[in-house]
Amino acid sequence: MSPYINHPIVEYTYLYLGSQSEMTPYINHPIVEYTYWYLGCQSEMTPYINHPIGVAYILTEEAGITDLSVIQTALLHDTVEDTSTTFDEIEAEFGKEVRDLVVELSDDKTLMKEDRKRLQIEHAPHASPKAKLVKLADKLYNLRDLQRTVPRGWSQQRMQGYFIWAAQVVAGLRGTNKIMEEALDKIFKERNVDV
Ligand code: ZN
Repeated sequence: MSPYINHPIVEYTYLYLGSQSEMTPYINHPIVEYTYWYLGCQSEMTPYINHPIGVAYILTEEAGITDLSVIQTALLHDTVEDTSTTFDEIEAEFGKEVRDLVVELSDDKTLMKEDRKRLQIEHAPHASPKAKLVKLADKLYNLRDLQRTVPRGWSQQRMQGYFIWAAQVVAGLRGTNKIMEEALDKIFKERNVDV
């Protein structure tokens, strides 16, 4: 059992995974804020708390990753990008290493979407090994999610464009984790995307 079981985020994750029913609110916790924010504005999609937990789950259960800072980063990787949570708050709760990893994984929201997507391709090869692990799991989760359900309003062309872009990001992350890279390659092959 993890010595960090008492940390609110870990406890919350276990509660969620254990019950798979109603979420127990952790008032003021960024993940909860994140969940409510997402549920409020994207209600037609998969409930967003599934995403950070799903990314952490891929890392622990599929990729064999046990490094705590990687798992914490997986749970927190989108919080600054998508909520009012700050990097300083992440550092105060989880320390500098997790802060720096979340910084690496956060897009600059002041940029246009196309620029952000291009920068993900350009930055991927220069990411730290731990950030690369979370990025691989993030892409794997998102592509599996897309395979399950086409987001409302997405054409087949837009779908295919997303898979092609994801393959370009993954190209810069290779040599990091064989299991996740093989799982991603299987998806790209199914979609006829060159890797
Ligand atoms: Zn994500």
